[in-house]
Amino acid sequence: MMKRVLIATGCLFFALGAPVLKAQAKDASAPASATAPAQPAATTQSTPVTAVTNGESKQSYQLSPEKLRHAIAITRVRNILTIVGTLWGLLVVWVILASRLAVRIEKWVVARFHARWIQGIFYFAIFIVITTLADLPLGLYGEHVERHFGISVQSWGGWFVDQGKALGLGVLFGVLILLFFNWLVKVSPRRYWVWSWLITIPILAFGIIVSPYIANIFVKSEPLEMHHAALVSRLETLVARTGTNIPRDKMFLALQSEKSNGVNAYVAGMGRTKRMVIWDTTADRLPEDETLFIVGHESGHYVLNHIPKEFALDVVIFCFLFWVSAKLGEWIFKKNGAKWGIESLDSRAGFTVLLLALTIVATFLTPAMNAVSRHFEHQADVYGQEAIHTLVADPQKTAVASFNHLGELWLEDPNPSPFMEFWFGSHPSTSDRANFAAHYDPWANGGKGEFFDK
Ligand SMILES: [Zn+2]
Repeated sequence: MMKRVLIATGCLFFALGAPVLKAQAKDASAPASATAPAQPAATTQSTPVTAVTNGESKQSYQLSPEKLRHAIAITRVRNILTIVGTLWGLLVVWVILASRLAVRIEKWVVARFHARWIQGIFYFAIFIVITTLADLPLGLYGEHVERHFGISVQSWGGWFVDQGKALGLGVLFGVLILLFFNWLVKVSPRRYWVWSWLITIPILAFGIIVSPYIANIFVKSEPLEMHHAALVSRLETLVARTGTNIPRDKMFLALQSEKSNGVNAYVAGMGRTKRMVIWDTTADRLPEDETLFIVGHESGHYVLNHIPKEFALDVVIFCFLFWVSAKLGEWIFKKNGAKWGIESLDSRAGFTVLLLALTIVATFLTPAMNAVSRHFEHQADVYGQEAIHTLVADPQKTAVASFNHLGELWLEDPNPSPFMEFWFGSHPSTSDRANFAAHYDPWANGGKGEFFDK
């Protein structure tokens, strides 16, 4: 059985990963989605934008020597923290099981509380607190590095408050979800992974709908027009052009500058909670044209239905994730259950074995999920650049400039590791995005855009 699951995992991994990888490669070297005719070199801007000549691409994303040194240094640390963080997360859950700590916690809650659900609440709350505390040193070091390079400007006090809020939310929602899923394993020992999958669908939708409110717990946001009325008027011309139908009162400014020097904007929520949020660092520090491009990108996610599409894809992937995790978890339990002192898979400690399996499988599904995400991000880049056509003087220059600002303020390495980009990259590299923007001009030679005729 385990062999069949592994083969199936391999197939899905390559089925999902490979085609997008190939597409990815096309995007990186030649702007594949530039369906418009090849651009004559004349249409590209002078430095830092240069033309593609003979397949050799000159970088459109450039940093000063000092910034480049910093970007390479911080990217090295970020990459190490990402890989170590992933492996450490798996190791912590394995140690909790193999050291019999899981069984001991279970025995402790059973001895103290009579009601099974109260035992479950305490078991999972303790589990979440332990795994969160185990991650704290990596988080601390990561924040220390982000502060050292001037990306984070948050006080340590503020940082710890945010960690506390995240832990509180994690315990509140995590305990309820884990308790319910553990109950499903108990009442449906053969089909629990199907019910878990089905219940995940409304949970995912709920997550999208309430995400703006969760964001507000960490960062205060105020109506954008209170601070940037002129920008709101320009954004309304963009909203009219893209048909995103986000009214003024759904445009917000997130007061992120108290915490970060990075720039960002995003569209979040669904239905009545749908809103556009621009970081104050973006609105205050980037030229309006570039903010318009970034919001155009975000609008692309909405107009092109990336959120429902990614949601639908998640639903499919989660079905696979739960099926494989159930099989892997049952296999790990058969091999190690007795050694770890675990009597059954539906016990609290037994359920923790399923969580270990879920984390392992999710780690291997990450590159496939990110490949899809990069595909959507690239589409949103194309959409954003087309959306500002007629609204700004030079969409190419504006897009390239905004990627250079984005990269410089987040200290993005112009030559990221292809492996890190493939496995952990939810966006194409800033270099690829800037290179594409520098050469994408669908209106040259009377052409039309992929998403806009004019
Ligand atoms: Zn995006």
